[in-house]
Amino acid sequence: MDAAAIPDPDVFPRFEQFLAESFPRVHATLKRETLGDPGLLYTWSGRDAAADPIILTAHYDVVPADRPGDWTHPPFSGAVVDDVIWGRGAVDDKSSLMAILEAAERLAEAGFTPERTVYFAFGGDEEVTGQRGAGRIAAALAERGVRALCLVDEGTAVVENTVRLVDRPVALIGTAEKGYVDIRISARGADGHASMPRRRTTVGRLARALRRIERRPFPVRLVPSVRQFLAAIAEAAPMTYRPILRRPRFFAPVLKRVLTADPKTDALVRTTQAPTMLSGSAAPNVLPACAEAVVNVRILPGETIASVCRRFVKVISDPAITVEVHNPSGSGEPVEASPSNTDTYRSLCTVVSTHFRDAVVVPYLVTATTDSKHYRNVAQAIYRFLPLRMDPAMLDTVHGVDERIGATSYLSMIDFYSDLIETLSHGAEHR
Ligand SMILES: [Zn+2]
Repeated sequence: MDAAAIPDPDVFPRFEQFLAESFPRVHATLKRETLGDPGLLYTWSGRDAAADPIILTAHYDVVPADRPGDWTHPPFSGAVVDDVIWGRGAVDDKSSLMAILEAAERLAEAGFTPERTVYFAFGGDEEVTGQRGAGRIAAALAERGVRALCLVDEGTAVVENTVRLVDRPVALIGTAEKGYVDIRISARGADGHASMPRRRTTVGRLARALRRIERRPFPVRLVPSVRQFLAAIAEAAPMTYRPILRRPRFFAPVLKRVLTADPKTDALVRTTQAPTMLSGSAAPNVLPACAEAVVNVRILPGETIASVCRRFVKVISDPAITVEVHNPSGSGEPVEASPSNTDTYRSLCTVVSTHFRDAVVVPYLVTATTDSKHYRNVAQAIYRFLPLRMDPAMLDTVHGVDERIGATSYLSMIDFYSDLIETLSHGAEHR
């Protein structure tokens, strides 16, 4: 993170201080370490030191609120009006961080001690790669030889009116996560006066390269997490579709056709490529020596940053074009699916079902990125789930205008995490 980009660098220490004041029990019972910059690790030592620990994560940085004037209540006011909490981060992801600590405060007050050690890992730069927060916390845990039973992070939630075919809410448990890379494509050549151009300009070359990329999208594949998702929603789908959903491999051709028809589901079945930045000459009458584009790529599990680059080189097929990773520190490989057939996963599903009784609980592929990717070496299984109901309108407020959460939803999150901590930190049945 660029420190200069933070309007008020003191904001993170102040928030950390606020946590210490708000959760006295937690801070008296758990060990708190500042391992990230910013980033906090809380350790709740379990009774059984030999049992694999569990990790809950959340982040306390937020995206900016670019149009504060458009908000019903100012984005950083934290206004509570008519039982609704307003503000940037109300959903993503301070609700989760605060609810985890509220749950721990309550459990500690009741004299609860976990059987397994419980870690709360809170990063402060998730929205800008997570390297200095989650990245450093994960590195410290790895150095200490921690190998957690599982980790639960934000990611997906209980969605309503989102999954077509299903008229019930769907609790999406993110078992896998797509990778992220920005690819810079540049055309270099002679600069000079625009009154005497060569036949092939750098801008023309770059345009041809982009056209070739767009004409050849990445191949469609049904990865394990998506096949499991389809099979799992079958039970809630209309009878006629069930046989198709239950056997995604066999019916792959028809499923691929349906899923690629909508950008939202297309993102589940292929690596996506979106040209986002373009630059050439700074003046209308000057030929640029270099024309550049940046393509934002979300990588399906099974592919890698290297394989994406190789494919671009092949598809562009022009030795005068350079393909390279635009921002290496900001990219991340996809995270393969964590198991959805273990006792740990089933315990998580049970807790989800208890709190969202009307929902069908299914594994899912998260198409965005989360902090959890940093922990792949310290957790045997990674699940992404925010215990919150979200409809499309509410999803728009995350990273948008009027982010808010109902007070009852927030209170339910506390109950959820309380249950989750008790269940997952329990002894030997979760292996
Ligand atoms: Zn987030």
